[in-house]
Amino acid sequence: MTCVFCELLAGEGRTTWVARRDAASAFLPLPESRLSPAHTLVVPNEHVAGIHDASAESLQAVILLAQEVARAMEASLGARGVNILSASGPGSDQSVPHLHLHVVPRWEGDGLDTWPSTASHRLLEDGWLDGLRASLTA
Ligand SMILES: [Zn+2]
Repeated sequence: MTCVFCELLAGEGRTTWVARRDAASAFLPLPESRLSPAHTLVVPNEHVAGIHDASAESLQAVILLAQEVARAMEASLGARGVNILSASGPGSDQSVPHLHLHVVPRWEGDGLDTWPSTASHRLLEDGWLDGLRASLTA
């Protein structure tokens, strides 16, 4: 097993659990990786690299646990705001290739910048929107 999050979920290695559920779990990132106090990671219990590969069950479990954590942060920490951050796939700066949502509690004036201060340099050909729409599967 080479996925660090799967190792944690299997009880190998040490972490601080916030919640364990049937299909998703929440834990604290390493101290040096925390964007705020109580910054929490929510992951599906089954290995899935990112949003492109996730089952509907995993996605549902992860977002519902993120909501539960956000509500608990408001109730117990007075954090009325929250940022949900995630990255999937090459070029996205995904750090661990196991789908995860960062649940970052926010307080007025806490000093954290919410949005990136740069924008992509990538240019797309005319017609990209028609191609995107045609590629949607639903
Ligand atoms: Zn994994």
